[in-house]
Amino acid sequence: MATRSLFPTLVYAAPLAPRGAKAFNAQLKREIGVLRLDDAAGRRWSAHNYPGGYTSYGSASRMHQASPTFAALERKLAPHVRAFSRALGLDLTGRKLAMTDCWVNVMPHRVVHGLHLHPLSTISGTYYVQTPAGAPGIKFEDPRLDRMMAAPPRRSRGRHDQNPWVVLPATAGRVVLFESWLRHEVPPNLVRSERISVSFNYSWF
Ligand code: FE
Repeated sequence: MATRSLFPTLVYAAPLAPRGAKAFNAQLKREIGVLRLDDAAGRRWSAHNYPGGYTSYGSASRMHQASPTFAALERKLAPHVRAFSRALGLDLTGRKLAMTDCWVNVMPHRVVHGLHLHPLSTISGTYYVQTPAGAPGIKFEDPRLDRMMAAPPRRSRGRHDQNPWVVLPATAGRVVLFESWLRHEVPPNLVRSERISVSFNYSWF
């Protein structure tokens, strides 16, 4: 091939574990429900920063240190983060990737999570707890978008990985990982049921 691919943007998506997702998600969902009731500060923070939804990002953002269930999630995520780090070719120079933040997101009908990235982190991602049929996926933006000055549009039926935005489906029991600088959003939830997820950041120490 005369044309080659340089500087690829890698994202990772896989089932968290070969089995047991249903029971694990039921336990996570129970704890997220209790947290949401208890966490008045988080509900206030969400009212300003995540209108219509609930997130513990501003109030309980180290759930892996607060709950054995979330600590179990951290353990289950570890091999995925290692595999993704290998695929990225990261040389951690003897240091380790460690989870720094872990928070919950409950997205009811018509709630949206606008375009953002995760500053001060290395690898970020989300584990999906409840994803009703038709609930939105996670939408990634081509990181070169701000440099495309005279770029014609791409054919809409062209290669999936050449589109300026790519949506990965959100599926309960699956994990998605990406480098923390990659901008992403969750489009509006157009279905009546709540989309529930746990997001997290890793940094290297
Ligand atoms: Fe995010």
